[in-house]
Amino acid sequence: MIVGIDLGTTNSLVGVYDSGFVTLIADEAGERLTPSVVHYPAEGEVLVGRTAVRMRTLAPKRTVYSAKRFIGGRVGEEEGRFDYPVVGQPGNPVRFRIGDVMVSPEEVSAQVLRKLKMDAERALGRPVEKAVVTVPAYFNDAQRNATKKAGELAGLEVVRILNEPTAAALAYGLDRLQDRARVAVYDLGGGTFDISILELNQGVFQVLATNGDTRLGGDDIDAALVEYLAEQSGVTAREERERRLADPSVRARLREAAVDAKHRLSEAEQVDVSLPFLEGSQSQVFVITRELLEKLARPILERTRIRCARALADAGLRADELQEVVLVGGSTRMPVVRALVAEMFGRTPNTTQNPDEAVANGATLQAAILDGALREVVLLDVTPLSLGIETFGGLMNVIVPRNTTIPFKAGEMFTNAVAGQRSMLIRVLQGEREKADDNWELGRFEIPFEPLPKGQARVGVQFEIDANGILKVLARDMNTGSEKVVEMASAVDVSDEAVEKMLEDSLEHAFEDMNARIYTEARLKAEEMLPSVEKALALVGDRLSAENIHAIRSAMEDVRVAMHSNAAQQLKKAAAILDDCTQVLATLLVESAMDAVSQNAGGVGQ
Ligand code: ADP
Ligand code: MG
Repeated sequence: MIVGIDLGTTNSLVGVYDSGFVTLIADEAGERLTPSVVHYPAEGEVLVGRTAVRMRTLAPKRTVYSAKRFIGGRVGEEEGRFDYPVVGQPGNPVRFRIGDVMVSPEEVSAQVLRKLKMDAERALGRPVEKAVVTVPAYFNDAQRNATKKAGELAGLEVVRILNEPTAAALAYGLDRLQDRARVAVYDLGGGTFDISILELNQGVFQVLATNGDTRLGGDDIDAALVEYLAEQSGVTAREERERRLADPSVRARLREAAVDAKHRLSEAEQVDVSLPFLEGSQSQVFVITRELLEKLARPILERTRIRCARALADAGLRADELQEVVLVGGSTRMPVVRALVAEMFGRTPNTTQNPDEAVANGATLQAAILDGALREVVLLDVTPLSLGIETFGGLMNVIVPRNTTIPFKAGEMFTNAVAGQRSMLIRVLQGEREKADDNWELGRFEIPFEPLPKGQARVGVQFEIDANGILKVLARDMNTGSEKVVEMASAVDVSDEAVEKMLEDSLEHAFEDMNARIYTEARLKAEEMLPSVEKALALVGDRLSAENIHAIRSAMEDVRVAMHSNAAQQLKKAAAILDDCTQVLATLLVESAMDAVSQNAGGVGQ
């Protein structure tokens, strides 16, 4: 059993896969999100998660949050303001001083991982020893190794480190898009913003570009709202306000109220906020509207715009070249964020997943794949039967052979069978039989073209099957460029029995089918030859010996007889003989054409 873990800066989650479903595991309080916060008491047990959050105000110097910012990093690289002491020599690995003890970021993360492991074991009733753990796409080797180390310290073998945007893309099912699809993952969490552009390559996501801001997230919106609430508190003198706000417990309660209001405003248009603490005993109730929150959040959110633009530029793409934009991170629950993303990328973002659970979901799916519990359906899919179109003489012309791995694309060029034909009927067929009518028709449509002599029209037909097995047939008149694309029903969803039956039939009728093809091909050839031999005889027949003419005439007769008696082999032979004995005729035709050219040339010269 391998679990999937989103080890987040603000929140972490663990999931398991069972019989087709991902389940994210709730802690003892019934919550799936575990705050990535660890409290080290002077005595007694370390607290992790929600219980540790409560200690942040009471014992700020002993409560570590956002340890992920420091993991695998060195002193001097991260000079943020934290309530707990960050120590060490510049250039050396970061340590936190908790009382007299030094704690490393890996050890803090290990505490979070240990709690997730225990919650999973309690829920599953069995030991959990392996995990897929996600990291930001921009994490370097040192940061990835430190994350692995944190896993080891927690008693977990990290079988795979997975990029967060890749995990999110998996959760959104984007691996089912067609090959080469490009997607954007917009991840706005508590303290960080990441934008990633991914490309799907043979079922694997490649990161084309990442950008972001490690100091931009929901926390900044909280701070702006705290500021606003404090201003409204009736304590008008700025200094007095700041003095009261300097009290950590006041600040913490104010922040709590702000976060709560922010969350509720993602659903409601306005909410009541009760602030009993700034003005002594008097409690105050404010009404906060979504409009106000959005006004405060706007300038913060606008800062993601340039990051997105840069990521797109680095990937060498325009927004309209993306197949999908997905939202990740709790802060993208805000309607204003969704609107902003829609505006920036010119498309409605995909919100079918819970944004703060998508990464954990994807990590769990990856775990299931590694575990062998989840077959990589998409990658292994093949066409169960051949696909093609009907051509001259009612034959099946295979374009995609049976057992071709999808996604797949192939095409062929066709021409008109009759002079002056104004359109070509494209009959899309599925099956293994030689005659079109013995196969299944998936659909049909007509592609018009300019009337032309026989064999002069050029119509390209392309079959494209996406990863979902949907077949698109494109037909284009190469002379005019006009084209038609028609989507067929799934080319893959055929019942096993139906496939069996088709294969059996094709074996059973193999002999007659082969004869039918030979006959039809020979007949088409004969139908073309007979009139042109007649024409040649009329033109240059007088230069042939009587013996020659007799041979040709009797060969022509043999062909006609074979044609009428439906005798495939006989017709093939007769057509070959006719071909042979008209060689002289062909030579004479060429000579007479040359004579005509030289005479004409002479005429021009005079
Ligand atoms: P991270 O990836 O940083 O660990 P998350 O994806 O869990 O974090 O996002 C946490 C952030 O999402 C916090 O700032 C939190 O306030 C915000 N958030 C969570 N739910 C909502 C909501 N319903 N409306 C607005 N913001 C939310
Ligand atoms: Mg996250």
